[in-house]
Parts: sequence; C-alpha cells; structure tokens
Amino acid sequence: MSCAEQEQGESRLHIDWTRCDGRGVCSELLPEVLGRDDWGYPLTHDHRDPVVGPNRTAAARDAVELCPRLALRLDRMRRG
Ligand code: SF4
Repeated sequence: MSCAEQEQGESRLHIDWTRCDGRGVCSELLPEVLGRDDWGYPLTHDHRDPVVGPNRTAAARDAVELCPRLALRLDRMRRG
C-alpha cells in the first residue's frame, strides 16, 4: 500500500497505558486529538482510542515514532 493510499481514511491511535509515562510528546504533536492532564499523560475525549482523520495521519505517525516509551500504535480503520 502506498503512502498516499494510507493517508486516506481514518485510523485509531492506540495508547498502551502500561508503557506510557506521561512525557507529553504525543499531545504536543496532536493537540487536536489528545489533551494532557496535569501530569503530562494524554487525555482522550471519551476514554477510548482516539480516531485520527486523514489530515492528522502524518502527525500521528510522527507521534508513534517519537514516543520515547513506544506506547503508541496507529491502526487503520476498516470500512464497512
Ligand atoms: S509520547 Fe508516549 S510516553 Fe509520552 S505521553 Fe504520549 S504515549 Fe505517553
């Protein structure tokens, strides 16, 4: 699958809470998707893995790569 194809559609950003130690890189890169609590841990809107739209996919990939605890994973959502 090409990068262009992958940019289409939505993905879910999975946070492994057993790894995350609240350094806040993800919420800096994805402020529209993740908030941050007083300790730097990411906050999602409904306590579920947040949905990432196509326009945020590149930033979400950066967050996955830059998370110092390897706590993030981006899963493409299937249609239908
Ligand atoms: S970048 Fe990784 S370790 Fe830091 S707050 Fe986000 S998920 Fe947690």
